Amino acid sequence: MKERVAILGAGVSGLTSAVLFAQRGYRVSIFAEEVGQSTTSGAAAAIWFPYDAEPVDKVIPWALETYKILVDLSRDSRSGISMLELRNFSRASEIQIPAWAIPLGARRMDLSVMSSKVETFLTVLPSVFASGFALTVPLMDTTIYIDYLANRFGSAGGEINGNRRFEKLEDVDRSFDLVINCAGIGARELVPDVDLEPHRGQVAIVPKIDNLTCAVVCDDAPLMYAVPRTNDCLFGGTNELSGNLDADPISTSRILTECSRVLNIDKPRVLVERVGLRPFRKSGVRLERDLLRDGRTVIHNYGHGGSGFTLSWGCARTVLRLASESA
Ligand SMILES: Cc1cc2nc3c(=O)[nH]c(=O)nc-3n(C[C@H](O)[C@H](O)[C@H](O)COP(=O)(O)OP(=O)(O)OC[C@H]3O[C@@H](n4cnc5c(N)ncnc54)[C@H](O)[C@@H]3O)c2cc1C
Repeated sequence: MKERVAILGAGVSGLTSAVLFAQRGYRVSIFAEEVGQSTTSGAAAAIWFPYDAEPVDKVIPWALETYKILVDLSRDSRSGISMLELRNFSRASEIQIPAWAIPLGARRMDLSVMSSKVETFLTVLPSVFASGFALTVPLMDTTIYIDYLANRFGSAGGEINGNRRFEKLEDVDRSFDLVINCAGIGARELVPDVDLEPHRGQVAIVPKIDNLTCAVVCDDAPLMYAVPRTNDCLFGGTNELSGNLDADPISTSRILTECSRVLNIDKPRVLVERVGLRPFRKSGVRLERDLLRDGRTVIHNYGHGGSGFTLSWGCARTVLRLASESA
């Protein structure tokens, strides 16, 4: 009989790890204060793209491993994953194409040629952006993908227990041999880990936008992205050091103004505002085995910053490997 595994956290890191462990025959239970759309994962744009996570020499291999799995999953219409062109722009300077993006087909965009196209938002590009590159990447529609992962986990025999807050990892019932810590920013108090800092992100969900078939992203301040999803469109964003989970109306107004300016559209109405705390860890993603004070093994899998979806499968596979080594 395989070990009993408790996974703390029902965001993308916990769910992805849970699917892998359950499919390998482990008896897995998830415990989490919040589940589904209420997690940070539920607020994410969830485009595959390494961003705001350290260290680069580990992040890129985990991201590339995840990319391959997400491409495969995008063939399953139930997953909520689609392959989408991501157009990454700079307002001020010549944008650098990251070395890892070139084998994935990243290509520089000629903005002067594109300005003559009819796509609504491209008509204003030369005045808004100085340069850009395009890359086709997986987009996870969180309104579908989080449920998809939870259903896969349930079908493999796992159970999710929501509304369960833990003060410390040792509080997990002794009947579980292995604890996997996927608590995101919650690990700051739970472990505790002062290296974690909340990189607050706010987004506005608006109705679907005609003709917007690619994601538009600009990392220069002010951070801006527009991501077309199955039933709506996600406008962002912010990235600030703050643990405030309340939506800020001034940020929403700024996001709407900038996205509408870039897309050359009238300001859409806001369906809902969402805030999440990217779990950024200054010394890098924590993915390692450790011992709890009661002698049980814990595997930490947190601190993915702005890349939790992008790293999800690569990190979950590493967790599984670490568990087999400890068995
Ligand atoms: C606006 C925004 C946009 C983003 N866009 C992208 C993107 O495009 N691509 C990308 O890859 N990433 C993106 N991210 C980052 C991504 O959302 C995070 O990296 C990811 O959600 C982290 O997932 P997680 O499962 O580790 O943590 P979370 O989703 O935060 O889940 C943590 C879980 O642990 C539980 N928990 C915490 N503490 C306790 C406790 N003490 N007791 C019990 N349960 C506890 C929580 O309730 C929750 O279930 C974005 C984030 C934001 C905010």
